[in-house]
Amino acid sequence: ALDIGHDLGRAILNARTFAHEHRLVAELTALDLYKGQLIATVSHELKNPLTAIVGHLEMLDGAPELSPASHNSVSAIGRAARRLQRVIDDLLLLSKVGDPDQPIVPAPVHLQPIVEDVRDLTAISASRGRVRVELDLPLEAMVADGDAEEIDCLLTNLLSNAVKYSPADTTVSLSVHRDGAEIVLTCRDQGIGISAEDQEQLFTEFFRSADPNARAQPGTGLGLAIAARIVERHHGSITVTSELGHGSTFTVRLPAAA
Ligand code: ADP
Repeated sequence: ALDIGHDLGRAILNARTFAHEHRLVAELTALDLYKGQLIATVSHELKNPLTAIVGHLEMLDGAPELSPASHNSVSAIGRAARRLQRVIDDLLLLSKVGDPDQPIVPAPVHLQPIVEDVRDLTAISASRGRVRVELDLPLEAMVADGDAEEIDCLLTNLLSNAVKYSPADTTVSLSVHRDGAEIVLTCRDQGIGISAEDQEQLFTEFFRSADPNARAQPGTGLGLAIAARIVERHHGSITVTSELGHGSTFTVRLPAAA
């Protein structure tokens, strides 16, 4: 009788804990949704006036009547405003790819033109930093199942990070291959690397390493959070292996098109 009472007591306790956890999950999900909506609304409200500011600054920038000192100020305000624009654009993108009400509509995505576009886009900053970018694309066309624009954004974030956090005279490589029903995209660099501690927080919004080598580069800390959400929406995975001072490798797995 004691045992039955004991088991019953435990069962009730378990049921209560379960109900409590269930409620907690529901509350957290609602809060997350609210956070996403708040970020989207605030970013939209900031975007329009900022576009006006940048437009007027560009007009002022070429004005002949400006003294050299005023000209410097206008340029400095312009740089700051454009940085704000990048943060706002990333926030808008983050809220879009984090919105469960806007799921992707998967379609076949040919990876070769996207990978080549992404390489061309990062080519300028790569050559400025004397970083070589190599592509390893198999002859047969790789086709993923997903959203082309989002896969483009995902690869742009990975490749631009690889270039940004690499010293001169190193190589960044982006390779694509197929593994059964999945496409595996690998972005490898010989850059500054990421400590084991930082790796745990890498995909968290606004996370930036405290490592001075990383801090020397501009960034919003949103690129990898966006990448992770894009991968999640594609039912894929993203992992990193890295050692401080010895480069990093990001591996993304996406479903292949049927
Ligand atoms: P950020 O805009 O700061 O680059 P990300 O979300 O793209 O934001 O990356 C978060 C942080 O992860 C970076 O600030 C940097 O510390 C680290 N990181 C990302 N990619 C790399 C890389 N390829 N090599 C070294 N560190 C990296």
